[in-house]
Amino acid sequence: MDGRRWAQQREYLGAVGTIALAALLCLLLRARLQITDIGMLFLLAVVFAAGRWHRGPALLATLLAIAAFDYGFVPPYYTFGVSDKAYFLTFAVMLVVALVMGRLTARIREQAEHAEERERRATAAYNLTRDLADVESRSEQVALIARYLADALGGEATHTILASPGDEGGVPAWPSDGVFAHVAVRVAAIWAFEHGEAAGPGTDQCAEAEACIVPLTSPTHRVGVVVVRPAPTNPVPSGSAWATARALAGQGAAALERTSLADRHAEARMEIEAERLRTALLSSLSHDLRTPLATIEGAASTLLRDSAALPPQAHAELAETIVEESHRMTRLVGNLLDMVRVEAGGLAVKKSWQPLEETLGVALLRLEEQLKGHPLVTHLPNDLPLVPIDELLVEQVFLNLLENAVKYTPAGTPIEVSAWAENGGVVVEVADHGPGIPAGAEREIFRKFYRAAQPEDGARVGGAGLGLTICEGIVVAHGGRIWVEPGAGGGAAFRFALPLEGPPLGAALTDVVGD
Ligand code: ADP
Repeated sequence: MDGRRWAQQREYLGAVGTIALAALLCLLLRARLQITDIGMLFLLAVVFAAGRWHRGPALLATLLAIAAFDYGFVPPYYTFGVSDKAYFLTFAVMLVVALVMGRLTARIREQAEHAEERERRATAAYNLTRDLADVESRSEQVALIARYLADALGGEATHTILASPGDEGGVPAWPSDGVFAHVAVRVAAIWAFEHGEAAGPGTDQCAEAEACIVPLTSPTHRVGVVVVRPAPTNPVPSGSAWATARALAGQGAAALERTSLADRHAEARMEIEAERLRTALLSSLSHDLRTPLATIEGAASTLLRDSAALPPQAHAELAETIVEESHRMTRLVGNLLDMVRVEAGGLAVKKSWQPLEETLGVALLRLEEQLKGHPLVTHLPNDLPLVPIDELLVEQVFLNLLENAVKYTPAGTPIEVSAWAENGGVVVEVADHGPGIPAGAEREIFRKFYRAAQPEDGARVGGAGLGLTICEGIVVAHGGRIWVEPGAGGGAAFRFALPLEGPPLGAALTDVVGD
């Protein structure tokens, strides 16, 4: 308020100053100027004042100009009398010019103010949208919206009260601290929330309240209210400030609703997914664990019961079955546990620069038994760069891919492992000469629990449809990707690409050398 009055006073002072200056100029130049020139100079001052200031100061300038012109320059001098009636026309022209100019200036100024206000509002709305996109949690969004509303109303956000969660549009729990200690604020807040309209100073509702209440209302829901205490220097926000606040509040409420909808959607999806996982785990446990368990139980009890009657070779065979089936069960349980870790996002990748052939070597060693029936060919160029990997995890990828190659291809068919540098990364391929992946299932096979049609002799092929999902989880956690292509010699060619981005090479090299 003070600021506005001072601005007004400055305009009046300016108007007086302008005419004083014009009068001084005319006094100095009166010997050289005709009276009409002097009239023109005063007219110029009037035009200047009318073009620059509001109507009041402009009118004052006009009257002062007429008075000064008449008093000092129109005969008889130094009186307000006028000898020649023609001067009245000059005075009238001055007045009309001032009025017309004033009107035009006011209109232009109004338009400029409107445009400025629109721009301010659009900028605030744009900034809010941009900032909302940067924050993720609902609480951060709420804080951001409150800050924008406080800025728009030129005050400080003291409370943000949201409708009871879970109960859309439910009545919030109203606080009683701070500005809420005032009954008027409580009443305003409840009214604003229920009606979805602003209340407080500068509005038609509860104008006497100590705080401004901005409702956050989306087209479908009452989200809550933001309470802003205006600055003491500006206790009643202007109409345009309220218009900006209302626009921002609508936008903020819509964003909050979108977030909560997205959250609920994600929750529902996670629940469905968790339910599917439970079902699949149960079926997998009941089938894939029970089969080897039953075999182990059978073999072990035969050994116990008929031990004496059995020839030594049968002993060995039964023991081998027990070992093999235990091995299958261990792998299955291991895969299930890995899966849970991948699912929970708890896959900690400890990258260090490693030669791939070492990791592959360890995997091949572990699968020595199973790989016996398949000639293995490796194509690893000597100049293959070191790759930043978690060797235990990448070893798991090799294990799963090689095991699949063994499981799903006829005995005797070769398995080829190759690697090469490509596009700033390294691509690894595990190719077999089996039946390949059914067309259209290239992405599906990476899905949890997905198992493509099993080969005729499927009896020996156990699995839970988790191996490839785990591979993908591990490769993605390394910043890479995994996919399958039809192999050059028939069969499936599983490829994964690992980027060459990792910890500084120096540190890793000492790691490797240390090893
Ligand atoms: P699992 O082997 O336990 O079934 P995976 O996730 O490892 O699960 O594989 C998913 C499916 O992809 C398998 O059931 C199989 O049908 C198919 N598959 C995987 N590897 C191969 C391969 N090398 N050749 C043919 N089919 C394969």
